[in-house]
Amino acid sequence: MMQQQAVAAAEARQCFGCNFEAVSAETACPRCGKKVFFTAGNIKTRGIILVALGLFIAGLIGAVSVVVGGIVFYASGDPEKSRKLMEDAHILLGAAGLFAVLILFGFHMIISGGWMIAFGKRNRATVWVMWILLAMILVAGGFISMFT
Ligand SMILES: [Zn+2]
Repeated sequence: MMQQQAVAAAEARQCFGCNFEAVSAETACPRCGKKVFFTAGNIKTRGIILVALGLFIAGLIGAVSVVVGGIVFYASGDPEKSRKLMEDAHILLGAAGLFAVLILFGFHMIISGGWMIAFGKRNRATVWVMWILLAMILVAGGFISMFT
């Protein structure tokens, strides 16, 4: 009885390193040795953080997009400014693409975090989508930096 109390309770756990899942009391992954073997509770907490970060990023970039869009819209009414805008159209398009991908990234964080809260597990497909979105952010950022 005393010995049982000293051991952590066996719970459903998932390793974020190798995706191994098991009902276990171990705190390190028995398969790949990663030092954190998350419980459903740990994963839900991370999900909440992910959703909060995603809302922040999507909200912030959304607000910036509206402001930038407004500036571009007003400038397009002025022939002189409008001509300059057309010269920089590729930069504007690159920035619009970057903002769009960043907003997508925010939404993706909300969805991945929501999944973690709902199921207490991480969906591996969402990890791949995250890497693809990160690559797209780098490409859009690189495109803009080439022309500025
Ligand atoms: Zn592992």
